[in-house]
Amino acid sequence: MKYDRVYNFSAGPSMLPLEVLEKVQKDLLNYNGTGESVMEMSHRSAEYQQIIDDAEANLRKLMNIPDNYKVLFLQGGGTLQFSMVPMNLLRNSHKADYIVSGNWSKKAYQEACKFGDIKVAATSEDKNYTYVPKVTKDAFRPDADYVYICYNETVHGNKFTYVPDTGDIPLVADLSSCILSEEVDVSKFGVIWAGAQKNVAPAGVTIVIIRDDLIGFADEKCPVYLNYKSHADKDSMYNTPPCWSIYVAGEVFKYLLSIGGVAKMHEIDVRKAGKLYDAIDASKTFHGTVEKEDRSIMNICFVTGDADKDKEFVAICKENKIINVKGHRSVGGLRASTYNAVPEEAVDALIEQIKKYDAAQ
Ligand SMILES: *Cc1c(COP(=O)(O)O)cnc(C)c1O
Repeated sequence: MKYDRVYNFSAGPSMLPLEVLEKVQKDLLNYNGTGESVMEMSHRSAEYQQIIDDAEANLRKLMNIPDNYKVLFLQGGGTLQFSMVPMNLLRNSHKADYIVSGNWSKKAYQEACKFGDIKVAATSEDKNYTYVPKVTKDAFRPDADYVYICYNETVHGNKFTYVPDTGDIPLVADLSSCILSEEVDVSKFGVIWAGAQKNVAPAGVTIVIIRDDLIGFADEKCPVYLNYKSHADKDSMYNTPPCWSIYVAGEVFKYLLSIGGVAKMHEIDVRKAGKLYDAIDASKTFHGTVEKEDRSIMNICFVTGDADKDKEFVAICKENKIINVKGHRSVGGLRASTYNAVPEEAVDALIEQIKKYDAAQ
């Protein structure tokens, strides 16, 4: 690849579009004639205000975000949202129902338990999260303050193929590892949030898209940073925002718009994941771990069934400039994250190694 770059299937932080990296490099020392780097820029300057305003406007365009939703750019990563969601949304019954479909929704559930009456409405833990539970409205307590899901489980490699019907109960969804890889109807959700370092930008910014009637319910003892209202009232400028990550995210949004938006990206993502799954399924050595209908198009999990062979395959990949195909330490095996910015040529290179390895067995 150009610049002697490697094929990087990291689960996060992960690849960024080369076009964006080049643009950012070009502007690194002198952004747009300002004579300064975005890294050095006051977040209160007119130039930076333009950067964050454009980033928000372009994200709104890409995701078709309705006007009654606020877009927040926060710090603290995905993990802080595990706490902020219950701290802000447990507002009436202090009950919330979680669908636990993998490692990340389990973590979110465990954290929420500190704050209220939290119930597992459905889980696929019985089969090591190899599928996504299919639930209907009656799975949820009618007085729950919210229902929570992780739309794409990064570690276990499964995804929702439907948006659960929660009736009037706000649905909260973690889209950290799939935001902007498929079109979602934002109006079906109360809150969508996503850490940027999987599919959007460098680590440091977390995007929160929240319906405005859900803001303002945090306890008065809630630390100011952890209250969505602090950020919503000041358009993500309550304190210094993660300026650099927001700027790069903004460049990624522009790039996505230039190639045809989320629908076009989805088409490419489906093609990349599809050909990789096809190669795995066609081999005698490798097996996908997730039920076909619930397979993620971002995190492709597979195994040989033999830990030594998995290890050997990881090493062969590395020799061929294909990195980060080792499964998460909690599940083992192999995982290739085919996020938006991973070029199709990287997927083709991995498929070639899969075929070669399979033929040698
Ligand atoms: C990575 C990830 C998280 C955690 O993000 P951090 O920023 O590391 O706290 C949460 N949810 C999902 C789906 C993730 O992929």
